[in-house]
Amino acid sequence: MNKNTVTIVKCPTCQKNVEWSEKSLYRPFCSKRCQLIDLGDWAAEEHRIADKELTEQDLWSEDDLADLVSKH
Ligand SMILES: [Zn+2]
Repeated sequence: MNKNTVTIVKCPTCQKNVEWSEKSLYRPFCSKRCQLIDLGDWAAEEHRIADKELTEQDLWSEDDLADLVSKH
């Protein structure tokens, strides 16, 4: 067995090969940049879902519907 075998993983962000070792500080990401991009995607996704829920609540708010009806 070769004791020097290194595990290679793919960066989830850019698919670049990343050596799974102490050298790769941001594993499984190839760099801090890719790690931040991935975290940013998560945050953006959560915001999008939250915004959608708020919008739907607004659309179906009885106060808003009553307001629309009373205006015209
Ligand atoms: Zn990367």
